[in-house]
Amino acid sequence: MAKKNIDWGNLSFGYIKTDKRYVSNYSDGKWDDGAIIEDDMITMSECACVLQYAQTIFEGLKAYTTEDGRIVIFRPDLNAERLANSSRRMEMPVFPEDRFVDAVAQTVKANADYVPPYGTGATLYVRPYMFGINPVIGVKPADDFQFRVFTTPVGPYFKGGAKPITIKISDFDRAAPHGTGNIKAGLNYAMSLHAIVTAHNEGFAENMYLDAQTRTKVEETGGANFLFITKDNKVVTPKSNSILPSITRRSLMYVAKEYLGLEVEEREVYLEELGDFAECGLCGTAAVISPVGKIVDHGKEICFPSGMEKMGPTTQKLYDTLTGIQMGRIEAPEGWIKVIE
Ligand SMILES: *Cc1c(COP(=O)(O)O)cnc(C)c1O
Repeated sequence: MAKKNIDWGNLSFGYIKTDKRYVSNYSDGKWDDGAIIEDDMITMSECACVLQYAQTIFEGLKAYTTEDGRIVIFRPDLNAERLANSSRRMEMPVFPEDRFVDAVAQTVKANADYVPPYGTGATLYVRPYMFGINPVIGVKPADDFQFRVFTTPVGPYFKGGAKPITIKISDFDRAAPHGTGNIKAGLNYAMSLHAIVTAHNEGFAENMYLDAQTRTKVEETGGANFLFITKDNKVVTPKSNSILPSITRRSLMYVAKEYLGLEVEEREVYLEELGDFAECGLCGTAAVISPVGKIVDHGKEICFPSGMEKMGPTTQKLYDTLTGIQMGRIEAPEGWIKVIE
């Protein structure tokens, strides 16, 4: 085994084909045994349900090398559970949660040469997904499904340190009440593309979406949950049924309470109280936390006291503690780290 000849420190967040991937097929009401294969191409009918009616869901997690040289993945059982929840909402068969974790582990192991070395800031991004594959023209769920896992090495999210970003309040909505905002489905991303292209064209890094019903409460961005720090150092995250339950956010809330002794609160967060917070960050697997320095609400600027130069102090502590746990420098809670052997 030899690591691939890749300039780990200069990788971007883009797709690079790796050698192996996992596939399992569902037909006649059951999943087959699944296998690691080499072919990265998928052949399907022109009328496949995923192509016509977007019956597809996914997960995202990372494999990385710890300080002591082990390859690990972070809380894959929660990705398994979340994919199962997405499956039920999308009328797709559940891929058994223990098999999900095993499939991810097998895929990472098969691509071990692509797991970036410790200290490079790069990681091996793991993408499990499932889609309806048989032809469907009258609207209904597919009968046959494919579950796959591929990996791709990705660079450090922030090259040269995390600089706070400026985001805008979007005029588009991400998710309806009682809709699909709380599951990880491609459809939630398809409809966010126009909103993010618009935001980027206007010079903003991300969109802050509000609740679609009243447009007074904070939901999340296209792909990350919000964390706010109050001036008296409480950690607050928005509560809503249409937010995707981020594993990073749930882990950070636990770390805030149990490792840093901070008060934590999951509650409705109103647009009009944003100016009262001391710090703001976006959390998700890719960046862990991206600090937000400024939110622009139709020309009105909300600037956090933490400024535009660096992460706020509490956000930084949260970031350091969680990444310390992930990299094996700080003892992890029971069951958070799965070693790939
Ligand atoms: C995946 C995702 C997140 C982040 O979840 P993690 O489990 O922390 O990676 C947040 N919001 C949306 C909409 C997502 O799809």
